[in-house]
Amino acid sequence: MRSEEFRRHAHALVDWMADYLEAEVPRVAPATKPGDVLAQLPNTAPEHPETFEDIFRDFEAFIVPNMTHWNDPKWFAYFPANNSPPSVLAEMLTATLGAQCMSWQTSPAATELEQVVMNWLKKACDLPESMVGVLQDTASTATLVAMLTAREKFTHGEFGRTGTSPQTLRVYATDQAHSSIDKAVKLAGFGSTNLVRVATTSDLSMDPDALANAVLADLQAGHTPSVVCATVGTTSTTANDPLRAIGRVCDQHGLWFHVDAAYAGSAALLPEKRHLFEGLEYADSYVFNPHKWLLTNFDCTAYYVRDPDALLYACGLTPEYLRTAWDGDVPNFRDWGIQLGRRFRALKLYFVMRSYGVTGLQALLRNHIEMADALRAEVQKHPEFECHDSGEYGLVCLRATPQDVQDLNALNASILSYANGALCGYATHTVVDGKFLIRISIGQWRTTPDHVFAYWRALQAGLRAAKGA
Ligand SMILES: *Cc1c(COP(=O)(O)O)cnc(C)c1O
Repeated sequence: MRSEEFRRHAHALVDWMADYLEAEVPRVAPATKPGDVLAQLPNTAPEHPETFEDIFRDFEAFIVPNMTHWNDPKWFAYFPANNSPPSVLAEMLTATLGAQCMSWQTSPAATELEQVVMNWLKKACDLPESMVGVLQDTASTATLVAMLTAREKFTHGEFGRTGTSPQTLRVYATDQAHSSIDKAVKLAGFGSTNLVRVATTSDLSMDPDALANAVLADLQAGHTPSVVCATVGTTSTTANDPLRAIGRVCDQHGLWFHVDAAYAGSAALLPEKRHLFEGLEYADSYVFNPHKWLLTNFDCTAYYVRDPDALLYACGLTPEYLRTAWDGDVPNFRDWGIQLGRRFRALKLYFVMRSYGVTGLQALLRNHIEMADALRAEVQKHPEFECHDSGEYGLVCLRATPQDVQDLNALNASILSYANGALCGYATHTVVDGKFLIRISIGQWRTTPDHVFAYWRALQAGLRAAKGA
């Protein structure tokens, strides 16, 4: 593609992008069936060059209608995967620079901007001063890196050298922890059977006494307690593990303390939510996702550690062809995680933090939490619905509980399906303690109370329809 052609198409695409970011789609989740897209596209690559007009026409005809629109204001599913205009602009520049940011020397500004934004974020969230941050692709990767670091620490490098551990290393989490914990335990070689489920209290948060007992029982059995994974804002219902009490148990037994706040971590920007993060000073590693609730395009995960040397011990490796004159003086972020090649992720976070400022980001988060609070208030007023979340963030979990219905799970599944089918928005579900809960996650930057309450009305209509049936 010649330069003037690129320029012309790029201008046209920016108009398309601005329109898309302004519009609301009729269908947040497409009606696509498996194989629909495959059936419409050729199964061999074109032999000859095609025009951009043709490519773009097919993008609009076959791709867009079969996408799930995560940034529509009626998006209430899972957690948000936000973007924002400044983040999109930064991603355009990142793609244009096309840099490999594996070492300081391979893109000095990328490494140093990453240091800058990680410090900005640390201060804005009032994280412990001694923590040092690095960007990872996802929370799953950051948690795996934490597990690998802890494994090497507890086996004094033996596992990395020989592929075996002299001790049985035990990991502790509740049954509300995200599946990425289970995955990291499995992938890092701890063995799934060494993931100990710690009991929760009635609000689904980790019971620190149960943790202490589980650790003592393992010590008596000759195991080596090693890692505790706590969550601030669990995925199902935003339950919050008591970090300080857990941190004390970790401190007492010399355990690695990993804190996963993938979604809720953004709320640490709000002074009124900081109590949920008290005890973070005990953490060895902490992860949260600006790509969930901080206007920054996927992927962008903030990973903070207390001891970067332990991380480097687990992940550092310098072959001759990557050696540079600066290796002793600068961080080479390829040694701070799994990947060698790294995208320039800091740029979008930098654009977002400058464009909105800390107060702008705080206002946005508060707006989401206020809409969630308003919805919770309505749900609690309704005689046939109840709420099941921590009440702290932008996620509302609810279910209908009419007296005259036997199978509440089937009822609530049909209500969810009715509301999604009415195209008033798109939400998903979870099951906790055997109860089917409808999760309404409010976190898109264009969502207004009108969107939220239209979906709430659709849920009530869903209940009426189910009872009438
Ligand atoms: C979403 C989520 C994750 C996984 O995030 P990825 O960045 O997609 O890996 C991990 N933990 C919690 C608590 C989450 O909500």
